[in-house]
Amino acid sequence: MINIDKNTFKKDYEKKFIEMHGSELSLASPQSKYETLGALIRDYVVEMWLNTTRRYNENHDKQVYYFSMEFLLGRLLGNTLLNLGIRDVCRDALDELNIDLDSLEDLEQDQGLGNGGLGRLAACFLDSMASLGIPGNGCGIRYKYGFFEQKIIEGSQVEAPDNWLRSGNVWEIRKADKVEVVKFGGEVKVDSFNGRMNFTHINYESVLAVPYDTPVVGYENDVVNTLRLWSAEPISNEFDFSSFSRGEFLKAIEYKNSVEAISQVLYPEDSFYEGKRLRLKQQYFFVSAGVQSIIRHYKNNGGNLKNFDEKVAIHINDTHPTLVIPELMRILMDEEGFSWEDAWRITKNTCAYTNHTILAEALEKWPVDMFKNLLPRIYMIIEEMNRRFCEKLWNKYIGQWDKIHRMAVIADGYVKMAHLAIIGSHSVNGVAKLHSEILKKQEMADFYYYYPRKFNNKTNGITHRRWLLKSNPQLTELLKETIGTSFIKHPMDMESFESYADKEHVQERLYEIKRNNKLKLAEVIKNKQGIIIDPDSIFDVQVKRIHAYKRQLLNALRIMNIYSDLLENPNMDIVPRTFIFAGKAAPGYFLAKKTIELITSIAEKINKDTLIRDKIKVVFLENYNVSLAEDIIPAADLSEQISTTTKEASGTSNMKFMMNGALTMATLDGANIEIRDEVGDDNIFIFGMNEREVLDYYKNGGYNAWEVCNSDSRLRRITNDLINGQYSSDREKFKPLYEHLLTYNDEFFVLKDFDSYIKAHERVDKAYRDKHLWQKMAAINIAHSGIFSSDRTIYEYATAIWGSSFLYKNL
Ligand SMILES: *Cc1c(COP(=O)(O)O)cnc(C)c1O
Repeated sequence: MINIDKNTFKKDYEKKFIEMHGSELSLASPQSKYETLGALIRDYVVEMWLNTTRRYNENHDKQVYYFSMEFLLGRLLGNTLLNLGIRDVCRDALDELNIDLDSLEDLEQDQGLGNGGLGRLAACFLDSMASLGIPGNGCGIRYKYGFFEQKIIEGSQVEAPDNWLRSGNVWEIRKADKVEVVKFGGEVKVDSFNGRMNFTHINYESVLAVPYDTPVVGYENDVVNTLRLWSAEPISNEFDFSSFSRGEFLKAIEYKNSVEAISQVLYPEDSFYEGKRLRLKQQYFFVSAGVQSIIRHYKNNGGNLKNFDEKVAIHINDTHPTLVIPELMRILMDEEGFSWEDAWRITKNTCAYTNHTILAEALEKWPVDMFKNLLPRIYMIIEEMNRRFCEKLWNKYIGQWDKIHRMAVIADGYVKMAHLAIIGSHSVNGVAKLHSEILKKQEMADFYYYYPRKFNNKTNGITHRRWLLKSNPQLTELLKETIGTSFIKHPMDMESFESYADKEHVQERLYEIKRNNKLKLAEVIKNKQGIIIDPDSIFDVQVKRIHAYKRQLLNALRIMNIYSDLLENPNMDIVPRTFIFAGKAAPGYFLAKKTIELITSIAEKINKDTLIRDKIKVVFLENYNVSLAEDIIPAADLSEQISTTTKEASGTSNMKFMMNGALTMATLDGANIEIRDEVGDDNIFIFGMNEREVLDYYKNGGYNAWEVCNSDSRLRRITNDLINGQYSSDREKFKPLYEHLLTYNDEFFVLKDFDSYIKAHERVDKAYRDKHLWQKMAAINIAHSGIFSSDRTIYEYATAIWGSSFLYKNL
């Protein structure tokens, strides 16, 4: 925590401004004011950062390295100030200089190096590790272009590059003295010497990995951890760039381009896998650089590699960084002279893996030829791992060839990354109770029976510092007034708010706070899209990646149904609603893009229908990202978490909404189940098929979408509206959605769950009319949200998987 008063801060700021810009503050542009503030805060942080690193090194604390292909950080300024404990001082000081802190914070570009939930989870985890005083580091890729910027043009998604580094990044520090070299291609020369095999990698191409470090500030505890992101650069002596004459010039340019491509752009696929060579290159690039730098640091700090696993924990976030396992094996054996057996023991004890999805289309597997060609030595190591593993399976499962084939790491011409991650880790976890159970029972059953003790659950969480303290200051204030401040360091203490749920004055306050947040969002929507919405309507919100399993289509069909009802009966008695959507579709995901078009067409039609438009409005906000989420979530009355049961591993926006007092419309999927268990059936709206029914249909078939549709006149009407020109003069436009539902038998049971969904919304309507009841339910949700703080999640990882030391015990 920084001890600084307003006047000192003011002086520091003015001094910093002159130092950086050499001109008058009063004439400065907002951007230069923002840059000055960022640089000043970074100066404050750097000293604490050095101290933290020094303490870790002196204590030889066990270090956690969280490897993730994605870190969806969003903006850093506001949360850094909050965690430093100087946001108010800073605001007051800037006020006196006629500078508005909020508008400076808004100038910061989102750091959008992730697709959605998985990347945001990694960001929440960094915040919690630092805030719990856990020696924890992030390791990833510094993509030059983050997740694309979404524009909605004539109702359709158009992708633009996210040039987030355009105006620089005040938070990162390039560490030119900490570069590593990563090797691709070539061959492996094998010889033996004194009875020991030697493997020499030759004729490879070298890539320079340059680290950029970002400070991760803990909440008022003097801890600053590190997020290290790697950037790919050509090695200047690899080719002689000056020698035009030798005809090497074009080759040199080619080399430069192919190297820079590695950290050029984030793949915009969420829960989907494409076997692209560049993606494999990205994975090995950051994994190899990361593991090399961990080992270098460990040795420099006096560590003995024999005890590596006692001092280092490496976490593998989904299968993307799985190559950590063979890379660690390679270094221990080829460079450090360890035997296979010792290297294997150390590697397995060091690594742990989190699975994020059971969607078949998301499981990574690389063609053997591509793999071998790009990473010849790593492939040899995986082959040997596979050989030894299969040998054990043969001895245990005599004659059960099917099973052995199913479990092999290399089979049918592919390297299966999940299998590699499971056998090379000491812990495998799912991200919510149901998900972890399904992994054990279905997707990974063979492995579970083989290694029953490896499997465990760690239900996801969200950092309440960003998703409550920062994004909802008024609600935070109410909590402080009622239950005190202990919940900030101990989020489970929010439970004591439950005793206020019945109190009328608290219900009134909750109502006002929500209304203020809704007014703010209404302003954002007016400015962005020119749509005027009614702050007294129910803000009914579904914001997340657009994906068939998340069923934005179910929500859209419901709105179409209400609209048809209203056309027949404009005086129908319903509470006015504003349907708010946001989310990006993967650029190649045809059905998801069609779903966006459908929603924007429905919005277009409904918002200008003067007959009914005071009753319902539809808004699709473009370019969903962390900052937009921070505006939307505190303003939501209802949170739509309506994925097909079994398909959403956990969900995390469900937790963010709950913590901000929205009620949840939910299927019994992912962490929704745990939210239900916390708040009780009376304080959540549950609908839809259960796990057993869904798994039964997937296993045994028997679902008939036509039958479901034909037996329900509402479904007949709205599916027909998809193709009769109701929402587009081009009748072909939504035919693919119609066919998805009917011709292709509705893979995600949208039609099947429709009736139950409508009925659940009737319960919402009824509950909302009772203002006190609604606020009481909201209060109960807020009170039970503390368990979904990522501080709880990280505490579980640290104690049960990583064996971390803590600088501070906050829980
Ligand atoms: C929390 C979050 C997500 C994850 O949302 P789900 O509804 O859990 O899929 C995705 N994107 C952003 C920007 C988020 O903040």
